[in-house]
Amino acid sequence: MELKEIGIVRNDFEEPQGPDVMRDSESVIEVHSEYEEGLYEIESNNFLQILFYLHLSEGFDLVASRRHGGERGVFASRSPHRPSPVGATVVKLLERNGSELKVRGLDAVNGTPVLDIKPYADPFDSSSPAEEERKEDPRGTIRELIERGDTGKLLLEAGRLHGHFCPYLSLGVVAAQYAVSELENVEPDMEDGVGIVETNSCFSDGIQYVTGCTFGNNALVYRDYGKTAFTLAYRDGPGIRLYFSEEDFLEEEYPEARELFEKVVEEQNGTEEEERQLKEKWREVGFDLVTRSAKDLFDIDRIDSPDLPDYAPIYEDEYCEGCGEKFMAPKGIEKNGRSLCRDCAGEGYLQLDGSGLKEISG
Ligand SMILES: [Zn+2]
Ligand SMILES: [Zn+2]
Repeated sequence: MELKEIGIVRNDFEEPQGPDVMRDSESVIEVHSEYEEGLYEIESNNFLQILFYLHLSEGFDLVASRRHGGERGVFASRSPHRPSPVGATVVKLLERNGSELKVRGLDAVNGTPVLDIKPYADPFDSSSPAEEERKEDPRGTIRELIERGDTGKLLLEAGRLHGHFCPYLSLGVVAAQYAVSELENVEPDMEDGVGIVETNSCFSDGIQYVTGCTFGNNALVYRDYGKTAFTLAYRDGPGIRLYFSEEDFLEEEYPEARELFEKVVEEQNGTEEEERQLKEKWREVGFDLVTRSAKDLFDIDRIDSPDLPDYAPIYEDEYCEGCGEKFMAPKGIEKNGRSLCRDCAGEGYLQLDGSGLKEISG
């Protein structure tokens, strides 16, 4: 077996630090000049996998105790004390200057010999066994995260749906994770579990992502109360309702975020810099909130026989004699002997928008 040192790590760490510290820090990988050509086109990658030689590590135990208690086998841990002392870390590539790569998140000390660099493919983006698994069971990963209580990861994923991170998205994630765990994984595809949201704010997106009860699968009911509250229930009971009672809590715990919110969102009077600050602050508050327990944030009630709508009916189709478009039969209007859609009939309708459920007159 022959390994080459292809470069060396440069940073401020002479001794290993906790992973949290190193994960946030920047390092430079100085690639030796004879290998520089191998970096051609490396800039097209956001993330790289770095393999390095753990040169300070001596000896190993096959089973060792962990920092936070318990024991683990060496191959089930990231311990530096290994039979083959090789470290592997995924880092963010920040910048390339010739033979130097500036990266973030490398947990290797100054002077560590680098063995290899490879592009890192996100399992979500590539065709992989993970992708096949998702075709079989689209919510498998989410269910696992719920079972593990990994609200941080759930929030990270919910951000894909919601588009940003904010306190109310986090509250939705916490409420939903709690409710689903308490009711032992109500699964909306069976239509046996129904979620009821009482607001259409950021909160509802956390609920939809985590519970899988959505507008589209008819497992989500919207009650236009304007309350930050959510109920998850089995059709034949029981159910559980969580109400966010601590509105003051957000202001007290995160006064800076509150001030920025007032200025930027409520008064529409923030500078670009303040908008950026708010986004950052909200993200911070959001990821802090998901570390708190649902019991601290919500009033929680068990409901024995929840009041739920029937299963979604399957309607017959009808074609509008005005526009020719197809609609669900019961939604149509008979007018002057013609069967019309509500639009052509000039009838009023209900609309769910930012202001809640609204009656729009024809
Ligand atoms: Zn939001
Ligand atoms: Zn029509």
